[in-house]
Amino acid sequence: MILFRKADDLTDFLLKQRNNGLRTGFVPTMGALHQGHISLIRQARESNDLVICSVFINPTQFNDPSDFEKYPVTIENDVDLLQAAGCDILFFPSVDEMYPPGLPVKTYDLGFLETILEGKFRPGHFQGVCRVIDRFLTLIHPDNFYLGQKDYQQCLVVRRLITILGLEQQVSLVITPTLRDPDGLAMSSRNTRLSPDQREQAVNIFRALSSIAAGMNQFPPELLISDAVARLESEGFRVDYVEIASANDLQPYQTTLPEEPLVALAAAFLGDVRLIDNMLLPPRS
Ligand code: AMP
Repeated sequence: MILFRKADDLTDFLLKQRNNGLRTGFVPTMGALHQGHISLIRQARESNDLVICSVFINPTQFNDPSDFEKYPVTIENDVDLLQAAGCDILFFPSVDEMYPPGLPVKTYDLGFLETILEGKFRPGHFQGVCRVIDRFLTLIHPDNFYLGQKDYQQCLVVRRLITILGLEQQVSLVITPTLRDPDGLAMSSRNTRLSPDQREQAVNIFRALSSIAAGMNQFPPELLISDAVARLESEGFRVDYVEIASANDLQPYQTTLPEEPLVALAAAFLGDVRLIDNMLLPPRS
């Protein structure tokens, strides 16, 4: 695996590879890698000549400074995991490399998507996500771009960004399933910040979403949502949201057509650790 710290060196190298006709797959991460991240690397490995992974804790997407400061850093372990998974290139830039002085600060028109769920509870978050991904796309020009379904709304935001940038023909977005611990908790770098007791409670997010999926064709969605919120609160969570929405565009379920696929999404704090998860719901009968 080749490590690049400088954007220019990476761009020069990749230009040569593209001129040789190599197909590239890119997996952006913030490090503290776990098997969920590695599943993206493995999927990229299957369909590309070159697999590129970035490890960059993007300051512009943190609306809470203490979340940024406490974000786990495990770069040596990350390097070992990436190497073992067959990653070819690790891009591990500094903040100055990603945001050099003079780089224009753009605003991205994300419309409705930015006003709901993560957009509502983390103001500015998706602008920061778009800034960093715009920069990665400019530097790397991947053929395939890998994102986890774990960050459902982020996937839709990035799809929109690709359209805004006019790159639909150049880059394919590949969305991969959420990897979970054996009890069902979605793997997340933030899980390492949970105490042993909190780790046991954390699985209730998965259970709450599973109850919504199981009850979908038996009970009204409002009831399923209020039950899920009550369950999480009784387990010590501070709930930002539990919602059911169109899986296509996250419009509220009340406005969806009966045949439209739905997704349940949740975000909640345990102590100062914010966890998110989501689950595609069975078709309505
Ligand atoms: P992060 O480092 O949290 O920014 O995540 C980097 C990428 O890995 C994102 O596309 C995430 O959606 C994806 N990811 C995070 N957790 C998981 C998981 N448990 N299973 C699959 N993909 C994940």
